[in-house]
Amino acid sequence: MSKDKPEKTKYRVVIDGSKCLGCGTCEAVADKTFRVDGVAEVADQDGNSDEEKLLAVQSCPVGAIEVWEGDKKVWPR
Ligand code: SF4
Repeated sequence: MSKDKPEKTKYRVVIDGSKCLGCGTCEAVADKTFRVDGVAEVADQDGNSDEEKLLAVQSCPVGAIEVWEGDKKVWPR
């Protein structure tokens, strides 16, 4: 396993495809978690660290992605 890939992360990202513009920002910030091919999809929930995933989600220009830790919503607050 690559040392760049965290073994298990706490945050789960949920994309609202109906809001997504396909801009690619989330993939640019967290390239192992998100895949954008017209619309963003989750490639691997554990592909990037929690910090990288949260940064990617906060970079989405239309707020199309939520972050959950268990049943607690982390973003948007
Ligand atoms: S940053 Fe937001 S709008 Fe852009 S591709 Fe990702 S989910 Fe879609």
